[in-house]
Amino acid sequence: MVRPIQQLPLQLVNQIAAGEVVERPASVLKELVENSLDAGARSLAVELEQGGKRLIRVRDDGSGIPREQLALALQRHATSKIASLSELEQVASLGFRGEALPSIGAVSRLRLTSRPPEEGHAWCVRTDGDSAPAGPEPAPHPPGTTVEVRDLFFNTPGRRKFLRTDRTEFNHAQEALRRLALGRFDVAFRLQHNGRSVIDLPPAGDREAAERRLAQLLGEGFLGECIHVECAAAGLSLRGWLALPTFSRSQGDLQYFYVNGRMIRDRMAGHALRRAYADVLYRDRYPAYLLYLDIDPDRVDVNVHPTKHEVRFRDSRLVYDFLFRQVREALAQVTPGAPEGVAG
Ligand code: ADP
Ligand code: MG
Repeated sequence: MVRPIQQLPLQLVNQIAAGEVVERPASVLKELVENSLDAGARSLAVELEQGGKRLIRVRDDGSGIPREQLALALQRHATSKIASLSELEQVASLGFRGEALPSIGAVSRLRLTSRPPEEGHAWCVRTDGDSAPAGPEPAPHPPGTTVEVRDLFFNTPGRRKFLRTDRTEFNHAQEALRRLALGRFDVAFRLQHNGRSVIDLPPAGDREAAERRLAQLLGEGFLGECIHVECAAAGLSLRGWLALPTFSRSQGDLQYFYVNGRMIRDRMAGHALRRAYADVLYRDRYPAYLLYLDIDPDRVDVNVHPTKHEVRFRDSRLVYDFLFRQVREALAQVTPGAPEGVAG
């Protein structure tokens, strides 16, 4: 028996969308923190309970949301970040799809409290998985925004059972915050888990302060055995830190690559960097790096995947050659010879 075609209910549409962007507490954390950064936050506090399964709370001191737009922020495809195709093609904000809040709201109990700096107090709206937003109600809150996400997947048991232990979920969430904090040295980040402070990073205004943050997040070992790079060519600029071959890893767990401030996973870039290290690294070792590539936004497409973990370069050959050359050259200056015993 074939059923008639029908439009799905909005809540189900949002839950389907949540399948793409909300995998676990760490993905909620990423979306909320990106929103705070897009809102110009200078300081950000993240609180988790039970690995984020019970609570994820992100508070910022950003631009806030006016009362009359609070409910709209929870609507699908509602965004303040782009308004046209040409803006999409130039997009510089981390978000632009208008999907995170409605998706998260469809699979949790969400409270959004916000106060633009010029307002005397805040307003709060709530959703409970499948209800229409309640509120706005007045609420006490300093200028900025707090989003609270409780009981993730409480109404989608099929998804909930894929969550791991508190410890594992917490580790994922902490890694998500680490990536974000390594993307914005100018912003202060704090992370608490079950009431205990885990990360506390003041804003890092210069390179010395940036390296303190780096040591705090990636370890003194990395900082002690890396070189700083900074170069530009063909409208591309690259800066960051490259681990010396002596700090190589047995897995690729210390590879951070950012494009225009967004951490991404890119096979092409990964390959270029691996090849750049090939002469100085034993074959079964992985390079470690923290690199920031800046490129004109219209030369890169970030609208490839809902999570935006991938991008498409308009001229990927050029980017490949640039990364390969710059990194190989930088390494050649500090490692005059190949290590003994490197196979073919
Ligand atoms: P997107 O980030 O793609 O625009 P979201 O669903 O994540 O979509 O957020 C919807 C809108 O809500 C944003 O465009 C922004 O205007 C507003 N918003 C969300 N979080 C914040 C925040 N922390 N501070 C200020 N505005 C916010
Ligand atoms: Mg967003």
